Amino acid sequence: MDAVYLDHAATTPLDKEILEKMLPYLTEIFGNADSPHALGRKAMNAVDNARDCVAALINAKPNEVYFTAGGTEADNWAVIGGAYAAKEKGRTKLLISAIEHHAVLAAAEKLRADGFEIVQIPVNEGGRCELNALEPLLDDTVGLVAVMAANNETGAVQPIKELADLAHKAGAVFFTDAVQAAPYMPLDVKALGVDMLSLSSHKFYGPKGCGALYIKNGVKIKGHVVGGEQERGLRGGTTNVAAVVGLAEAYKKTVENLPQTTETLTTLRKAFLDGLSVLDGITVNGGNEGDLPSVLNLRIEGVNNADFVYSMDLQGVCVAAGSACASASIKPSHVLTAMGFTEAQAKECVRISFGKYNTEEEVREAAKKAVEIINRLRG
Ligand SMILES: *Cc1c(COP(=O)(O)O)cnc(C)c1O
Repeated sequence: MDAVYLDHAATTPLDKEILEKMLPYLTEIFGNADSPHALGRKAMNAVDNARDCVAALINAKPNEVYFTAGGTEADNWAVIGGAYAAKEKGRTKLLISAIEHHAVLAAAEKLRADGFEIVQIPVNEGGRCELNALEPLLDDTVGLVAVMAANNETGAVQPIKELADLAHKAGAVFFTDAVQAAPYMPLDVKALGVDMLSLSSHKFYGPKGCGALYIKNGVKIKGHVVGGEQERGLRGGTTNVAAVVGLAEAYKKTVENLPQTTETLTTLRKAFLDGLSVLDGITVNGGNEGDLPSVLNLRIEGVNNADFVYSMDLQGVCVAAGSACASASIKPSHVLTAMGFTEAQAKECVRISFGKYNTEEEVREAAKKAVEIINRLRG
């Protein structure tokens, strides 16, 4: 029996059509994209096309798109590179939303150890970072503000345009981690008004280990990996041509199918929730109007989330107790505690996230299994 995969916020399977487009660059066209000979030029041509493609999809210029080895690296670079550039202007305070991914939070913690001041921007009970939470924290010492476009645990979509406008009024640079938003909503860097934005390929059916950082022309940032002159001298390292091609093709397909995806995921999410409606003591965390259709974060009263994930797994259903990075640990989710949950309540919360290959039938079956498991665990 194939597993029913309901953990798409952690990663998605590689789309076979995308794999086909990557294969030539793993085989015949293996040249180093920086080599001046024919094989190198062919590889560079593919990288250029991928950059043009990603730039067009987010309404940026090709020279504003930098490829990285994933979302974590793009986030690290934006936060650390942005902070050190801001320091040169005498701005050493960073405002970081309380619900950021660990890739952003841990980068900020590293900066705190290096003498930067890190201040958390709180969120409301729906997991949203409101303007009146950011406004009082801004002053002329703030160098960088980071608020993700959509949260990976709750799907809460953030008011990025308005937050970025506020940050700019105070002279700060605004970065948004759009890794979880990109598969489910259109992104236009001009309309959003952001200075930096990160993407990760494996969240939209592309290969793992490949990401991108948009850096608006004119925005100051320090380089991230020293070595060769790749990525305009800011991020050295031989380009992973096949992965970059995969990222661009996967993102293109994603954007083309957005309306259909929204419809499909909304149906699947509703089907799972309907299946659980026979139970009491189940509440949806976040999931407000306009939030991502892909994620269902539930509190199941009286059930430990690690026990639930384990029991579902035994029944062939993959779900999560929080973000993949933290769910192996017994720590309660920082996202949920920021939303006002106690640690005990946060440990009753699970994340179910849907994807384009899920069928309504398998989702209904999974919900039935969840009901049996919850009844058993509640004793
Ligand atoms: C998955 C994820 C990341 C990390 O991206 P990787 O490519 O896995 O390193 C960063 N931010 C968010 C919101 C994510 O969901």
